[in-house]
Amino acid sequence: MKFVRFRAGGRGRYGILEDGHVTEIAGSIYGRYRRTRRRHPLGRVRLLAPCEPTKIVAVGLNYRDHAAEIGLPIPEEPILFLKPLTALIGPGDRIVYPAISQRVDYEAELAIVMKRKARHVPPGKALRYVLGYTCHNDVTARDLQKKDGQWTRAKSFDTFAPLGPCITTGLDPHRLRIEARVNGAVRQSSSTDRLIFNVPTMVAFVSQVMTLYPGDVIVTGTPPGIGPVERGDVVEIEIEGIGVLRNRVV
Ligand code: MG
Repeated sequence: MKFVRFRAGGRGRYGILEDGHVTEIAGSIYGRYRRTRRRHPLGRVRLLAPCEPTKIVAVGLNYRDHAAEIGLPIPEEPILFLKPLTALIGPGDRIVYPAISQRVDYEAELAIVMKRKARHVPPGKALRYVLGYTCHNDVTARDLQKKDGQWTRAKSFDTFAPLGPCITTGLDPHRLRIEARVNGAVRQSSSTDRLIFNVPTMVAFVSQVMTLYPGDVIVTGTPPGIGPVERGDVVEIEIEGIGVLRNRVV
């Protein structure tokens, strides 16, 4: 199942993507819902970020080969940071290159979307709390990340958290091809089977620290091949079974 959020009649609505159409639903994607008779061709709706999180929790350094490429040791525990909701944008929205950075990078990441309120969840039960998965671009001002020594400023500019295009349910999250492309050229190409900390481990770990609510997002780190974007570039994050998240840098 693929859930989307889209704008119609001046507000955000949820729907199911099937056969190139979006079927609007009544109810909640986190609980009970039903299909309505309102059906729109995908090309006629404006997709939004597919959920409305209370927070975006990010895991740094979760692929061994990415840790190696930036010269940092493999962490013993997941390294967490937060991306503010003011950074959240949806498919087709524009990433704004900040004037105070000279080096902005894409980072293709698998995003976990929570289904149920979760606190102190054991790894063995963690997947029951997950609704599904979507694509994320953990846009990073790399020069500021290095300069600051911690990551808040570098990761938090408005528009630095593209998410979408849909939430796919029923996926095995640990064997998905993940790719980043800039203007059509492949820059990152890996598989989620190379994650250091897997999805249940990350959900359990984060839930020891903070309460996760339905719609909250955990983004799971990027594979090797990070690199810069320039104004005018089109960045695509594609994950097998989910789709393509496309954003232009301006
Ligand atoms: Mg990242």
